[in-house]
Amino acid sequence: MTRTGTRTTSNPALPSIDPDCTTWRDSAMCRRLVVLKVYSQKEIYELFFPTRSSDPRLILDAKAICSSCPVRAECLAEAIDFNQYRWGIHGGLTADARRLMVSERRRAYKAG
Ligand code: SF4
Repeated sequence: MTRTGTRTTSNPALPSIDPDCTTWRDSAMCRRLVVLKVYSQKEIYELFFPTRSSDPRLILDAKAICSSCPVRAECLAEAIDFNQYRWGIHGGLTADARRLMVSERRRAYKAG
């Protein structure tokens, strides 16, 4: 995994996915990194919900975490299903990227 900002997201101590987990969120990499105390809950929030004044490298760090997340597809699908286009990084995409993806899909669907 790449080091793009202030902290590496690589952690060989990460456990495998718990087979007893009940929802996809139990396997979320962003959640696991908090449980393992790699990041605090506040740090994860700052990574995944950047503001206009946030360091752009934080977005790259969040995307790097998502790239190794086993439930990335589920996370992205839920963000799109619930119209979460305004804020946050979900499924490895920023709000703008999700909005663009949906727009392109609609255009392709209409074009047949
Ligand atoms: S894809 Fe990213 S935001 Fe979604 S659960 Fe995984 S790590 Fe968290």
